[in-house]
Amino acid sequence: MTEFTLDLNDDQRQVRDWLHGFAADVIRPAAAEWDEREETPWPVIQEAAKVGIYSLDFYAQQFFDPTGLSIPMTMEELFWGDAGIALSIVGTGLAAVGVLANGTEEQVGTWIPQMYGDPDDVKLAAFCSSEPDAGSDVSAMRTRAVYDEAKDEWVLDGTKTWATNGGIANVHVVVAVVDPELGSKGHASFIVPPATPGLSQGQKFKKHGIRASHTAEVVLDGVRVPGHCLLGGKQKLDERLARARERAKSAAGEGGGRVKNAAMATFEASRPAVGAMAVGTARAAYEVALDYATTRSQFGRPIIDNQGIAFQLADARTRIDASRLLVWRASWMAATGKAFTSAEGSMSKLFASETAQQVTAQAVQILGGNGFTREYPVERMHRDAAIYTIFEGTSEIQRLVIARALSGVQIR
Ligand SMILES: Cc1cc2nc3c(=O)[nH]c(=O)nc-3n(C[C@H](O)[C@H](O)[C@H](O)COP(=O)(O)OP(=O)(O)OC[C@H]3O[C@@H](n4cnc5c(N)ncnc54)[C@H](O)[C@@H]3O)c2cc1C
Repeated sequence: MTEFTLDLNDDQRQVRDWLHGFAADVIRPAAAEWDEREETPWPVIQEAAKVGIYSLDFYAQQFFDPTGLSIPMTMEELFWGDAGIALSIVGTGLAAVGVLANGTEEQVGTWIPQMYGDPDDVKLAAFCSSEPDAGSDVSAMRTRAVYDEAKDEWVLDGTKTWATNGGIANVHVVVAVVDPELGSKGHASFIVPPATPGLSQGQKFKKHGIRASHTAEVVLDGVRVPGHCLLGGKQKLDERLARARERAKSAAGEGGGRVKNAAMATFEASRPAVGAMAVGTARAAYEVALDYATTRSQFGRPIIDNQGIAFQLADARTRIDASRLLVWRASWMAATGKAFTSAEGSMSKLFASETAQQVTAQAVQILGGNGFTREYPVERMHRDAAIYTIFEGTSEIQRLVIARALSGVQIR
């Protein structure tokens, strides 16, 4: 019988310490500058590529770790350094996972290396699903992909929004509608190769937080991509669409339930990674607040001597540890193929992201006036933490998913 343990193994501990060193020595000192500049921190990404943190090999190793704990551990350490810079480093991974999850072996081998480039010529990738009228409701997606059989090409038209690295990426992964009758089951994902005519960057957003991460609209105007850029290939798509049409015809819910479960399993597996990012930011703010509370004196004693301050820190640390445990549980479940019967992935993302918001707000309060200035990092961390309850499914959507999983009722 396998012994239960929450200990990281030797390899994981070594990688964690290495990542922590990079986060402390390279990311954290650059955080305030790139937050102010609101630009992609290319020199930091290049440094990460040089040491091997920004690389296909590194992410593949973490991704295929059989315990499931390596990805959350990586996210926590990098985001502890700084959320905006860390998202610039791991943003490519979101698109790479899209190819890993849906692509053929050949597509994985062709496109993922082009997403990262190499240390002397670093590249980025973007994952483009959200649209102005299709955020939480992906079934409202309008970007169309039409097959031109004569040329064996797909033609993409539409506007994507909120794309991390959108328009500055070498490779874009674009989700589009191939059969509007089928709602979200009529979607497919496409690779848009580097320098494809018709793809351009629209508005670049000026954001509240994670300002070192580039977020922009991506406009697709008659973008033609070769047939081999359809992720998974045409035969697989045709089979999937035929199954979905059959189910749409039959009123019986059983088959439809299976499709929902397959989609849910993918999200449940990816959401803990966002939870781990939130743990990193929360832990960073908590550490600054703990340090400040023990060194700042008022009324002739350190402010931590007051229960009002000390209890806030006790609650913060408790919530951070609970968040990590939820994240690790869901990541372990994904890696070991356990069924997410209670939407455990969504639970981890919901709790960790709300914890990050609470803990960073408390940290600002504990630092008093200093917490409200850009002289201290908690102001930035508080702004950054706001993203975790929004992207990869808002808190409301996580609650919807959890409540549906628990009750079996299609709660709206
Ligand atoms: C910085 C940033 C980076 C991002 N990166 C990417 C990316 O790389 N690729 C990508 O495709 N997308 C990306 N996104 C998009 C992100 O996933 C969406 O913003 C998110 O899914 C929410 O969609 P929305 O903004 O349209 O909000 P809406 O869906 O319009 O929601 C607005 C509000 O209504 C609530 N709401 C909606 N429906 C319900 C309901 N049924 N029940 C209760 N409440 C509901 C929501 O919870 C929210 O509070 C990014 C977003 C940001 C801000």
